[in-house]
Amino acid sequence: MDELKEKALAYHKLDGKPGKLEVVPTKPCQTAEDLSLAYTPGVAKPVLEIEQDPETAYEYTNRGNLVAVISNGTAILGLGDRGALASKPVMEGKGVLFKRFADVDVFDIEVDTHDPEKLIEVVKMLEPTFGGVNLEDIKAPECFEIENRLKAETNIPIFHDDQHGTAIIATAGLINAAEITGKKLSEMKIVYNGAGAAGISCARMFVAAGGKKENVIMCDSKGVIFKGRTERMTPQKEEFASSTTARTLAEAMKGADVFMGLSVADCVSPEMLASMASQPVVFAMSNPNPEIDYPTAVSVRKDLIMATGRSDYPNQINNVLGFPFIFRGALDVRATGITEGMKMAASKALAELAKQPVPEIVKRAYGGKEFSFGQNYIVPKPFDPRVIEYEAVAVAKAACEEKVARKPITDWDAYRKDLVK
Ligand code: NAP
Ligand code: MG
Repeated sequence: MDELKEKALAYHKLDGKPGKLEVVPTKPCQTAEDLSLAYTPGVAKPVLEIEQDPETAYEYTNRGNLVAVISNGTAILGLGDRGALASKPVMEGKGVLFKRFADVDVFDIEVDTHDPEKLIEVVKMLEPTFGGVNLEDIKAPECFEIENRLKAETNIPIFHDDQHGTAIIATAGLINAAEITGKKLSEMKIVYNGAGAAGISCARMFVAAGGKKENVIMCDSKGVIFKGRTERMTPQKEEFASSTTARTLAEAMKGADVFMGLSVADCVSPEMLASMASQPVVFAMSNPNPEIDYPTAVSVRKDLIMATGRSDYPNQINNVLGFPFIFRGALDVRATGITEGMKMAASKALAELAKQPVPEIVKRAYGGKEFSFGQNYIVPKPFDPRVIEYEAVAVAKAACEEKVARKPITDWDAYRKDLVK
């Protein structure tokens, strides 16, 4: 067995408790009286309150702090369709991160269906249980329809993390890369390699942040997605079909300011990187191995700003910087959804935090490493305790401004203090 396999399997069985999550009661249940309050007959009282006023479910149940992490296992990590059951370790893992980083509770739910309609139906029926839903590892293009329908047909935040989590963190990094290189997003020529869940959402967010759609060239496994192409198209790819004469990734990358890889390992050659504009920005986010490996890339271009999905190189683009804190903010104002404004607020908060001096506590968590805003530090570190304050507050504020907060916050100082307690 390889070393990682051995360690990982042992971790999942640690302490004789299979898996990574358990349910812990939050109220005493030691006496006969406790029992009569926790369950019948006392429990009938909140039942009747909630029936009369559904909002009181947020006072008498855990709904307001409970997120469903839901998958059908059709696009697990970079492993493809491995089935609902096999996705469970990932969904439990997501639960661990929600709790560890933002004190959000999670039920992981693995639904054994390939039928989008059935999945939509199941999630809709689960709405009373949860304050929000994190859709996870559901394959493209079905993921787009599933999320859109659920957003329209439910009244709680629905967030497909593989799309938006990635886009939010990548946009934060790109905003800062633009600042460091002195280039404007509106003038940047950008190539997306990968037109799946992550690629499409990243490209949409680039445009929302001020980038120009006509400066985007998107590629997939068949090369450049150009206007009039018929092979392997989807409505989402159509949205970014360009009128360029480039047909291959290599042609598309000539003179480009930015490369965004959301595809597969090792599809970018040193020559392609060498052909990019000055001070190129390369986010090679394919996991676990990037589109071009870090040591090769930095040896080819000294003027490069590079990010990957990996923790062993600078500038890790990792969704854990997003979902726990975004849901924290959304739940705290009882948001009915996660709007474009809330996502952009999360990106901008992360971008802003990366520009602040890094405290000792963060350096210690990363073995005494020095971090300061620049080529090798464009997004904050996940273990930076300030992330929750910056991001959850920004998301909650945006929800209030966009009028999707059912319980708007008025005392922001108190909220901030409460978050970092
Ligand atoms: P997805 O929905 O399956 O999309 C994959 C896309 O890559 C598809 O458009 C596919 O083309 C394209 N592709 C496959 N082989 C290609 C090639 N040789 N050249 C160009 N494009 C190719 O997957 P996803 O969820 O968007 O994730 C894509 C990648 O990004 C994965 O490696 C994942 O690990 C990574 N990712 C990283 C992060 C992060 O935070 N670092 C977050 C999310 C995703 P077709 O459309 O033609 O099939
Ligand atoms: Mg995922």
